[in-house]
Amino acid sequence: MKFIADSNVGKLARWLRAMGYDTYFERSIDDEKLVEIARTDERVILSRDNQMMKRKIIREGKVRAILIEDDMPWSQISQVIGRLNLDTSAAFSRCLECNQTLVPRSKEEVRCSVPPYVFLTQDKYMECPSCHRLYWRGTHWQRMNTRLAAVCSGLNHQGRL
Ligand SMILES: [Zn+2]
Repeated sequence: MKFIADSNVGKLARWLRAMGYDTYFERSIDDEKLVEIARTDERVILSRDNQMMKRKIIREGKVRAILIEDDMPWSQISQVIGRLNLDTSAAFSRCLECNQTLVPRSKEEVRCSVPPYVFLTQDKYMECPSCHRLYWRGTHWQRMNTRLAAVCSGLNHQGRL
């Protein structure tokens, strides 16, 4: 499942990328272009914009769209997870900034690129082929993933949020 996030839900796009979902996002994009990308690329539109949902192509179900109900990013990701039954099986596989699929890097390859403490404590590294950011499963990532996994597993038990 792939997504395109409207400019009003940028943080949500990052959460989805953290979960490994391909999520297109441009800071300023007009509605026409957004809908066109969603149609050709078969992406689900995520938007806070009520007007967007009234478009014919969306009402007819040719393009799938979800109206995001809340302002808070955490509520937004919970809504999307609940609606589409997403999981975290592909977490840590995509760049949060540019949506590229990350490639594994060996510890030796990153020796000079990460802080010494990180090098000592982390064994697995991933690099974005586009922006060359390095990712490792540090405490921030662990917190994020624990939260996401909790929402996902809660849904499996109850079927909803
Ligand atoms: Zn990147």
